[in-house]
Amino acid sequence: MKKNIALIAHDNLKARMVDWAKAHKSILQNHTLFATGTTGSRIETEVGLPLTRFKSGPLGGDQQIGAGIAEGRIDMVIFFWDPLEPHSHDVDVKALLRIAAVYNIPMACNLSTADILIKHF
Ligand code: PGA
Repeated sequence: MKKNIALIAHDNLKARMVDWAKAHKSILQNHTLFATGTTGSRIETEVGLPLTRFKSGPLGGDQQIGAGIAEGRIDMVIFFWDPLEPHSHDVDVKALLRIAAVYNIPMACNLSTADILIKHF
């Protein structure tokens, strides 16, 4: 069944997200994809997957995805957040983790969980 999947990666992990999306392209292309701004443009150009792009994370993209979860428009999140660097929008990251937990949305925050989730979703 077609699902709405949101993809987000912090700067140090964008290459990992691109590689992951390439590896799972045959699955991802069967779903409707959303992404934060820069992550989304890299996936579009480097992987060739169409998606809806929200604003860049620091400009509210994470919050847009959180709103999508609250409104029932996002079914799953792959979020490669960087645990080794502080970000200007750390509070937005926390809010997104929280709202995904509130609505019981499957959310992968690292590569190994993303691999499991995409195969079982
Ligand atoms: P970006 O946003 O894809 O626009 O870089 C991701 C983030 O930093 O949350």
